[in-house]
Amino acid sequence: MPGTDRRVVVLNAGSSSLKFAAYPPDPEAPPLLSGAVDGIGNSAHLKIMDADGRVTHDIAVSASDPHAAMAILAGLKDGPLAGDLAAFGHRIVHGGPDLDRSVVVDEATLARIEAVSPLAPLHNPPALDVLKGLQKRFPRVPHVACFDTAFHRGHPAVADRFAIPDSLYQEGVRRYGFHGLSYQYIAGAMQTKAPEIAGGKVVAAHLGSGASMCALMDGHSIDSSMGFTALDGLPMGTRSGSLDAGVILWLQQQKGWSVDRVEHFLYHDCGLQGLSGLSNDIRVLLASDAPLAKMAVDYFVYHIARTAGALAVSMGGIDGLVFTAGIGEHSVPIRARVLARLRWLGFDVDETANQRGQGRITASSSRLRAYIIPTDEERVIARETIGLLSGRWLTVC
Ligand code: AMP
Repeated sequence: MPGTDRRVVVLNAGSSSLKFAAYPPDPEAPPLLSGAVDGIGNSAHLKIMDADGRVTHDIAVSASDPHAAMAILAGLKDGPLAGDLAAFGHRIVHGGPDLDRSVVVDEATLARIEAVSPLAPLHNPPALDVLKGLQKRFPRVPHVACFDTAFHRGHPAVADRFAIPDSLYQEGVRRYGFHGLSYQYIAGAMQTKAPEIAGGKVVAAHLGSGASMCALMDGHSIDSSMGFTALDGLPMGTRSGSLDAGVILWLQQQKGWSVDRVEHFLYHDCGLQGLSGLSNDIRVLLASDAPLAKMAVDYFVYHIARTAGALAVSMGGIDGLVFTAGIGEHSVPIRARVLARLRWLGFDVDETANQRGQGRITASSSRLRAYIIPTDEERVIARETIGLLSGRWLTVC
């Protein structure tokens, strides 16, 4: 193993944020530091926490894109890019049909990621920019790419395809599924946090600013609510979720919308924001009396419950449900309302446990079990990075 002062830096780049964490060579240890640059391109803000969760930086910064945010981090003497860098691990949202596991990055990998970037326009391009910038700055440090699509590549054909000609499937038009790093973490964490259901049929609900659900059988993904891009499935903060393709034709043919306008619309103006006309934040909508805000919350809950039912059918049954990510981990009323809709299936919520907000949240008499498990995508990336590079380290150190 490398020396204990070496660090593995995990990066998760989006269009307006760059999250990071630095780990010691042991991926199960707490991060040495973690944080994010948020609000990139607008009013960017840098926050860093040390290993004990104490805030060491909480400052406004000037960063027009994630690459610029990375350059700011590189300039910090006590930031994530200081010290003895052993490796970088990157969250890459879309790996396309071929990248079905984490890989050490080489030129061919970069070309493959670049080729599927149009399928994740908010995520793959900024992640590539950051990765290439770090390659220039630290040419001797290896990079590992970890894909959100990889965990889902074993789906059966009926879940992996659209009803379109096979030639398009061969060209890569498939139902990939996303949030795979989060579901990989949940599948592992269930072994200790929800052992009663870990080996069974579980629907995991990753409800954050992006939202999806996954059918896990014995910890393996067999279906997902998301498809070709991260637009499919549940309504999200600003993304539409599933939409009849005819709506897109209508916008283009009848309203004369350009492709760019439709893309912006689907990613930024729909979902909870579009439905409510008020906010993409479920907390704001829950606190509002506006009829459209109430309807947006109803729509969100309805589609989570409906998708849970569909994924239970994919698995031929269901033993439990896991809530995770920002809304799943923190919103008491959303969890309660989803479980109320699923009561007929056998979920009987324990109100006190749901208020407490951790662990099992169904009553002991409930036929089916529901849990809250906080996700940790960064730790999965650290595990994958250290796992892939430990052989190389052993020969070097
Ligand atoms: P994530 O993408 O997992 O970071 O989740 C971000 C989303 O979680 C935000 O859009 C918020 O709407 C939501 N969120 C965060 N904290 C809470 C909370 N205490 N109650 C409800 N929703 C929350």
